[in-house]
Amino acid sequence: MKFQVPRGTRDILPPDSERWAFIEAQARTILGSYGYREVRTPIFESTDLFVRSVGVSTDIVRKELYTFDDRKGRSLTLRPEGTAPLVRAYLESAGLRQENPARLYYLGPMFRYERPQAGRYRQFWQIGAELLGAQDPAADAEMIDLFVSILRAVGLSSVKVLLNSLGDDACRPVYRDRVRDYFGGHLDQLCGDCRERWETNPLRILDCKVPSCQPLLEGAPRVLDALCDACRDHFAAVQTALRALGIELEVAPRLVRGLDYYTRTVFEVHAANLGAQNAVGGGGRYDQLVRELGGPQTPSIGFSIGMDRLVMTTGEPLPAGGPPAPDVYVVAREPGATIEALAVARALRGVDDSGARVPLRVMADVQARSVSSQMKVASRAGAKRVVFVPPDGDGYAVRDMIEGKDDMKQPDLDSLRSWLHARRATTAEAR
Ligand code: AMP
Repeated sequence: MKFQVPRGTRDILPPDSERWAFIEAQARTILGSYGYREVRTPIFESTDLFVRSVGVSTDIVRKELYTFDDRKGRSLTLRPEGTAPLVRAYLESAGLRQENPARLYYLGPMFRYERPQAGRYRQFWQIGAELLGAQDPAADAEMIDLFVSILRAVGLSSVKVLLNSLGDDACRPVYRDRVRDYFGGHLDQLCGDCRERWETNPLRILDCKVPSCQPLLEGAPRVLDALCDACRDHFAAVQTALRALGIELEVAPRLVRGLDYYTRTVFEVHAANLGAQNAVGGGGRYDQLVRELGGPQTPSIGFSIGMDRLVMTTGEPLPAGGPPAPDVYVVAREPGATIEALAVARALRGVDDSGARVPLRVMADVQARSVSSQMKVASRAGAKRVVFVPPDGDGYAVRDMIEGKDDMKQPDLDSLRSWLHARRATTAEAR
């Protein structure tokens, strides 16, 4: 029997995994520089959390959840998104709730039973940030600015920010009724999905991508014409702030996004080179969600970036290379020296004696090979130097594999380690 990676998922192998780690590290650095701190929530939550927050009538809840009963019959769901779990964690933590506002982020896999296609997976990764407890348009501006900064830090600068407002409790219901009335007169011209949306969640029709629905969408009432004064002012202030920050944006009156909890500002960031699945991520304000999940009224805003898409859009094509070359390969000169070689390798990395030292990449043989085949392995791996163990009467012999000549012998392990670390510094400078 042959096992395969489950449909809609994939393995992230080296060297791709190294690019992923780089992008994650860059994102964490930027998030930290804006004062955001990480929250790690479980991969699964009670099913109810998502039904209540994302919304019963959304595609995510209707057909994309990975839901199962545990042994005690509790209904659990693999998280399809990160905001609801983070809000749940926020509500359970008195410490977080005291922060006013709380600046938090998460990074990890999400799960949706979607039809797999390019850039769309059943397990995918998101980096998300949430700013809880801030009502002012400046909060919206900080969020979008942070989003763009993360993209810039990973080398993606040609992006477009699409911005819309969905109104609030005062104006959205009125708008929703207008939309329902408008489409109600033309149900026969809508696709099957949209006819269903008309019953359950008419605003989602505006986001339909099916070509036959497009002519009707053109004439639909515009949300921006239906905003109440407070929402209109907020929307204008967000745009002014973003322009002041030098962020290019485009007002997108039909942008609605796939989750029910958004109020007022919604946005998406698109990258030119992504094709059909070109949204790198998006987000919006959710002024009622914290209250709906049992907390106090806490106006908030957040975003999530799709890591998979980010990796697709950034950087040079990856070299097909193997593992990075070791600084040192420790060769056991006799069969009994294998374990000593491991111990010397560990000492030479220099991780255990000084926290400040950047470890050297040091490898040793674990297959009890002959000296000549260890030398071949070291050379094939591109090792810069070989150290021989055990030492003889004069100390450790070192061979420079790049120059093809022997280096000075080192009398003991301490001097060998210092010497190798010092050499690495000069080699790095020379490059
Ligand atoms: P959403 O949570 O639906 O607002 O999605 C935010 C971002 O996550 C999207 O713009 C995508 O970049 C990414 N994303 C969402 N669903 C998937 C998926 N099935 N596969 C890969 N990326 C996804």
